Parts: sequence; structure tokens; C-alpha cells
Amino acid sequence: MNISFDLDDTLIPGVKRFPVERRTIWQKLVSRESLRSGTVALMKRLIQDNHRVHIYTTSYRSPFYIRMLFLSYGIYVNKIINKSVHDKTLEKRAGSISKYPPAFGIDWHIDDSPGVAIEGTRHQFRTIIIPENDMEWTTTILTQLLAGEAGA
Ligand SMILES: [Mg+2]
Repeated sequence: MNISFDLDDTLIPGVKRFPVERRTIWQKLVSRESLRSGTVALMKRLIQDNHRVHIYTTSYRSPFYIRMLFLSYGIYVNKIINKSVHDKTLEKRAGSISKYPPAFGIDWHIDDSPGVAIEGTRHQFRTIIIPENDMEWTTTILTQLLAGEAGA
């Protein structure tokens, strides 16, 4: 399956705070940003299980930067959708919806925003919403993906 992840407050702390992955000197050189603790193991597992991992962010971080950030942890991110790509692809619809994963062939989108879950219900795409205090967040994701597969 194709699975996309939000960045801000889902994988990268901003307003919301959570433990982050330890960083090597190389990773510190690539980015000042840290990834949420558990991100690397989760993504590696998903890729090993033949899923494709994507990033879908409403920020303007460059796709090159995002690619390098994840590559520094040994993770190959498939598609990288930032706000510019979203706007370009969705054209007139871009303003009325913050994220629309089906436009990019994405089956599941993982986010921190309950608003995105509402959009998912309204526009028929599947979301998994992760609260900042969910210490078992990677288990939450794996469980919901499995339940979705069983129900599909
Ligand atoms: Mg977010």
C-alpha cells in the first residue's frame, strides 16, 4: 500500500512535543530538525513489508531537503508532496482541501490533525490520526493498517 505521513506535529515536533530519534553528526549536518522517536523503525518495517512510504506536508520544505533528511536515516521516501506540489496538482480544488491523498495514489494518510480526518470522511480517503501523547504511536499505526487491510 501507499502510505503518506504528515511532517509538522506528526513526525517533527513543533507546537506539539514528543521524544525524538537520536542524531548522528551526519544527521545534524543535514538538518536541524529531528524525527519523532520510532519513525525510523516504523518506516523501515513498512518498506520491508512492501509498502511505499510518502511524505505529504502543507509546508514549503523542498522535496530535496525532505529526501535528504530521510535518506540520512537510510529511508527512501517515494513521493514528496509539499504545498507547492499540492497546489499544482489539485489546481482549483487546492484551496478548498488541505490534503487530498487520492490525487497522488495514496491509500492511507497519517497526520496529527483531526481536521484532516474530517476531510478524509468527507472526501473518502483513509486517515490515521496520532495524538502527541501517544507513546505507542507506531503500534497504533500498524494496528489500524492491519485492521484496514482485513476490512478492505
Ligand atoms: Mg501536522
